[in-house]
Amino acid sequence: MAVDPNAPYDPDNIFARILRGEIPVVKVYEDEYALAFPDIAPQARIHVLIIPRGSYICATDFGERASEAEQAGLSRAIAHVATRLGVTGSGYRVISNTGADAGQEVAHYHLHLLAGEPLGTKLIRPNAK
Ligand code: AMP
Repeated sequence: MAVDPNAPYDPDNIFARILRGEIPVVKVYEDEYALAFPDIAPQARIHVLIIPRGSYICATDFGERASEAEQAGLSRAIAHVATRLGVTGSGYRVISNTGADAGQEVAHYHLHLLAGEPLGTKLIRPNAK
């Protein structure tokens, strides 16, 4: 079911549980602001999720409530992850889904970093003509 960005933050969502160490993941990168780990259903040869440690539902929530340090920290984490993955030269895409129209499934703000092959068109709309 799609995430309702206006619902209260659910502390038992799967990414919150990963942050608490209740569900093991391969840590691609971590620091005080962010954790990065492979997506369980990769949509490209490289597909890593980057999540803030703070409890934010989506891009709107993060943009409105996260501190300057948290916002800078997540932004810097993208660069750290891309460098660690060795894709800064070949390129990569960072996307974030918020709410129903975007198909957000997990109610903890996250960035998808996709890389490792040509990624095709920027946006695929199911009803595009
Ligand atoms: P979104 O549709 O933007 O909310 O993306 C949620 C993503 O989380 C999907 O790409 C899922 O494959 C991924 N995902 C769900 N559970 C896990 C998990 N336990 N470990 C890694 N990725 C997950």
